[in-house]
Amino acid sequence: MSESNVIVSNEPWQKPLPNIDKDNEEFYEGLKKHKFLVWRCKTCGASYWPKAYCINHENEPFAANMEWAESSGRGKIFAFNRHHMAFHPGFKDEIPYVYALIELDEGPLVSSTLVGSTMPKDVYDVGQKVEVVYEDHPAEGFTLPRFRIVD
Ligand SMILES: [Zn+2]
Repeated sequence: MSESNVIVSNEPWQKPLPNIDKDNEEFYEGLKKHKFLVWRCKTCGASYWPKAYCINHENEPFAANMEWAESSGRGKIFAFNRHHMAFHPGFKDEIPYVYALIELDEGPLVSSTLVGSTMPKDVYDVGQKVEVVYEDHPAEGFTLPRFRIVD
């Protein structure tokens, strides 16, 4: 994935901080390296996000045959919603923004906001192909995933 998929934000972060814990810290470490990791079953290759057990083998949660693996970072819009109200003061400069549920090519659903010049407008935009964009926040030391529509 090319570096054009990276946004560097030097704006002070005014929003709630991401909840990084032991179950997702490797995912956030991956984002800093500009990799979108999914939780994958070594036995059947099924992908999950966030961490889950593999439904194909009735595994224990986080069983030994699961691992983080790099995804394509590509998917399609599963659903979206245009927000005209900020739910947190940190979002008010970005109104309206589009919050989307993305179905990754590997299968899992992830939610994020969309960036870029093309935004979905109506129901016909469900299914539009998207790719991940990594938003680096060097001052705060984390990277967040966004998605943008690709032609
Ligand atoms: Zn499996």
